[in-house]
Amino acid sequence: MIADNNTFILTLASSELISTGVKKISFDLSNHNFDFIPGQYLNLLIKLENQIYERSFSIASNKKVPSKIELIITSVTDSKISKFLFDLEPGSSIEAKGPYGELILHNFKSKRLFLISTGSGIAPHRSMLFQLIDDELEITKTEIISVVRSREHRILFQEFIEASQKDETIDFINCYSEEIYDDLNEWEACCSIIDLLKTKELKSGQDIFYLCGNQKIIDQVFKFLISNNMMEEEIKFEGYKPNV
Ligand SMILES: Cc1cc2nc3c(=O)[nH]c(=O)nc-3n(C[C@H](O)[C@H](O)[C@H](O)COP(=O)(O)OP(=O)(O)OC[C@H]3O[C@@H](n4cnc5c(N)ncnc54)[C@H](O)[C@@H]3O)c2cc1C
Repeated sequence: MIADNNTFILTLASSELISTGVKKISFDLSNHNFDFIPGQYLNLLIKLENQIYERSFSIASNKKVPSKIELIITSVTDSKISKFLFDLEPGSSIEAKGPYGELILHNFKSKRLFLISTGSGIAPHRSMLFQLIDDELEITKTEIISVVRSREHRILFQEFIEASQKDETIDFINCYSEEIYDDLNEWEACCSIIDLLKTKELKSGQDIFYLCGNQKIIDQVFKFLISNNMMEEEIKFEGYKPNV
């Protein structure tokens, strides 16, 4: 069903707790022809207390399955928006608009691609992962780094590890910012994202960066990359800032 003003209706099919304070919610979209490019987001129109709140959420699903849209929702402290989405029951309907956004992959022939996220910022990278597996983008190497506080906060990490084990051009690392473990797997690191990037021999002209998540960390990474001679056009980013 298509609603007014170019909006469309999503119906919640399932909602699953996938990490501490993080849910994957899946919507059915059987009667609307929705197309998006991996990396894009949509806006949900959330009706609460006679007001409509328009909030953005990155699409985490596979574009080749257009009838199902998956989002990754973080439970943000004191946020009635994330509480509403966390408590949504299967069968409930919600209006949406989109897709929007320029955080999309190009054919980076012979480049090394870094997908760096914090928390639910991994959502667009999951959608891109499906694309990287399916499409011939001629990227030499993809390094996916998911920064989370601890092992308890990992998001869909098994899917990324599995992809990296199947495809030697894809590497995945869970980078823990708040805990130290002494039994680390090869796909884990306990350090700041900046210290991890210092080990990567970054090179302008060779590396491309897609950053998504907490605005403060995105800003730190951006400054670090610029101070290491990356060009602004080699860095794309999307940060979650407070809605005012
Ligand atoms: C392009 C875009 C894509 C987004 N995609 C997602 C997504 O895939 N999943 C998701 O959960 N949220 C996502 N967000 C954030 C989301 O739109 C809302 O900010 C969030 O639901 C809280 O809304 P709010 O109005 O209650 O609080 P806000 O006023 O928006 O935020 C309150 C505080 O919580 C922080 N915050 C907001 N969202 C997060 C988050 N996900 N993780 C950690 N801290 C956060 C903000 O930086 C701020 O400090 C996205 C935002 C943008 C702009």
